Amino acid sequence: MSDITMAQLDAIKHQIRQYNHQYYVLDDPTVPDVQYDRLMQQLLAIELAHPKWVTADSPSQRVGDQPLDSFQQVQHAVPMLSLDNAFNGDDLKDFDRRVRERLHKQLERPLEQSISYTCEPKLDGIAVSLTYENGVLITGATRGDGSRGEDITQNIRTLGSVPLTLLGAGWPGTLEVRGEVYMPSAGFNALNASLINQGLKSYVNPRNTAAGSLRQLDSRITAQRPLELCAYSVGLVSEPEALPSQHFNVLLQLQAWGFKINAQMRRVEGIEACLDYYTYLNQKRDSLAYEIDGIVFKVDELALQQHLGFVARAPRWAIAHKFPAQEEMTRVLAVDFQVGRTGAVTPVARLEPVFVGGVTVSNATLHNMDEIQRLDLHLGDSVIIRRAGDVIPKIVRVALQRRVANALPIPQPLSCPVCDGPVERGEGEAALRCASGLSCGAQIIQAIKHFVGRKAMDIDGLGEKQVQALVDAGKISHVADLYALNHAMLEGMERMGTKSVSNLLAALEASKDTSLAKFLYSLGIREVGEATARSLALHYGGLSDIASATLEQLQLVDDVGPIVAGRIVHFFADPHNLEVIAQLQATGVKWPEFDPQLVQENTAKLPLTAKIFVVTGTLSSLTRDDLKAQLQVLGAKVASSVSKKTDYLVAGEKAGSKLSKANSLGVAVLDETQAIAMIQSLAAQQDPP
Ligand code: NAD
Repeated sequence: MSDITMAQLDAIKHQIRQYNHQYYVLDDPTVPDVQYDRLMQQLLAIELAHPKWVTADSPSQRVGDQPLDSFQQVQHAVPMLSLDNAFNGDDLKDFDRRVRERLHKQLERPLEQSISYTCEPKLDGIAVSLTYENGVLITGATRGDGSRGEDITQNIRTLGSVPLTLLGAGWPGTLEVRGEVYMPSAGFNALNASLINQGLKSYVNPRNTAAGSLRQLDSRITAQRPLELCAYSVGLVSEPEALPSQHFNVLLQLQAWGFKINAQMRRVEGIEACLDYYTYLNQKRDSLAYEIDGIVFKVDELALQQHLGFVARAPRWAIAHKFPAQEEMTRVLAVDFQVGRTGAVTPVARLEPVFVGGVTVSNATLHNMDEIQRLDLHLGDSVIIRRAGDVIPKIVRVALQRRVANALPIPQPLSCPVCDGPVERGEGEAALRCASGLSCGAQIIQAIKHFVGRKAMDIDGLGEKQVQALVDAGKISHVADLYALNHAMLEGMERMGTKSVSNLLAALEASKDTSLAKFLYSLGIREVGEATARSLALHYGGLSDIASATLEQLQLVDDVGPIVAGRIVHFFADPHNLEVIAQLQATGVKWPEFDPQLVQENTAKLPLTAKIFVVTGTLSSLTRDDLKAQLQVLGAKVASSVSKKTDYLVAGEKAGSKLSKANSLGVAVLDETQAIAMIQSLAAQQDPP
């Protein structure tokens, strides 16, 4: 510390002033709070070692920053201060010791006598002052530089939680209430998603969003933002005797006058209880509907607060105990592209490892190329990483001012990083996809998993781990290889005892007899789900007709539009896919083919043809899929949502919104027993085949 020069000190002050301007005036920080806090701690340490170097304009002596010129200014009758910080338990104990020592010196209060503290979550928003004259809201102001704030009266009036007139009675003639305007997390996420959708710049965190939303020149914009006010203290009070003499009780009084106060607020005795409260709230942090960045502990007796007073920028009777940071700064070392289960090619940022939100983060997903462009991310960039709650870490901002000269933009991959096949981006799609389908190694695991699924080839005994192990051991590389598996190849593999091997081989053998619809579905053609596979099978009757159908022809099939038709044509145009199908058939996979004309004629005669069913809730005697299949055999169409066109809703136990909708639309509702009775009686009337 001793070798620090004045020039270095000035540089630190200059940097903090710049950060203050970006944060308080522009609501647009360029570094995470921890980084700012570290610099501020550095400044405080230097000034502590060199008290003569402290100047009146040092950021350590000031609160916030200048109010914006575009707003009228409001002079605060009682300055709006900041808070000192505690970053760990020892800092908090030091604070308590200082409080007791000072009161001991001033009032001869016993040094060991504990202090009553009010514990309040430190909401991460923006401080405001609301002045009421005779119970009517007259002025709303921001904190600004602590002495002068911005007049935001029109904006603050748009918040539902701000009482325009006070409830009850007994309020002082002039009452200044202070509190935090904040944006609950759900509102923040929705707002940011909508800004991103519109191609606009998103906010870094709920704090900046709340501040930016409140400091709008057009109060109609503020009105649309989901802001809340939580009261946490008073400022100017014309008749202080109208208020209780403890801070906690003052807040309860404010609640009675119509203000929202925080439900987690507690009053405790002594500093150990404060530490317990910290542990309690830190555990609860992620489940709260709003963000908090710490806890504010305040000496509860107002008379003691008076004796303690304040220093330049903060009261001596309160402290903010900060939680571990949820935002950090780090560097992007590389961007890799990963191929996901559906062929989506996703960029992933490889980061210089950084501890944030309680874990060390070294990767962050970038979602797609649009996100890279939106962030304007270049290789080597310094970025702000945010990890709030259990949410996956996210790059929220690039620190553009730190970009090194000639930093390279991130190029879009021209081919699949796994199979080197072509990548494509469908119309209206954000994701790039590897177009190689089953021949891409990355997609094979997913393809096999899908293939063996119950609704596809229905092969029991192959979980993801086993599939992965078989692929890794080079024993299978596409779905047709499954049928070449034998005892010798399987035995000895993890989780593969003699019995499971026999069961698996039997399941493979049994699966060879399938239906065209199931086989089509098992191929995993994008957008071709169970219902579409069934429609295709019914329409064509044979696989070769589907494989050779044109875009136009395919669109004649029920449920098949241009996108699905395109996927089907594309799938069957790939020689590798055709080869896999031929191999499957060569191993004995088969299904009955039929004359679609005949089927359609027969279907038209079925008792439930043209009837639309929806099945919901939990059934007890069979699965929903089995019930659907039985309805379909009788010609019914089974849809996934209830509409005016629905003929019957089959409602099992715990049926929810679909049942209410059916009732409101007057759709006939059957319980499980009624549905089964209907199926049995209709099936009995069918001609024997
Ligand atoms: P602060 O946020 O640390 O503490 C004071 C503020 O806490 C009050 O003004 C009030 O708004 C808020 N608060 C929330 N709940 C409260 C409660 N129950 N009782 C009392 N106050 C409550 O102080 P500050 O001076 O506004 O700002 C410092 C913070 O801002 C630091 O965390 C710092 O990291 C951050 N900051 C960041 C940057 C940046 O560039 N990233 C720049 C400047 C400041």
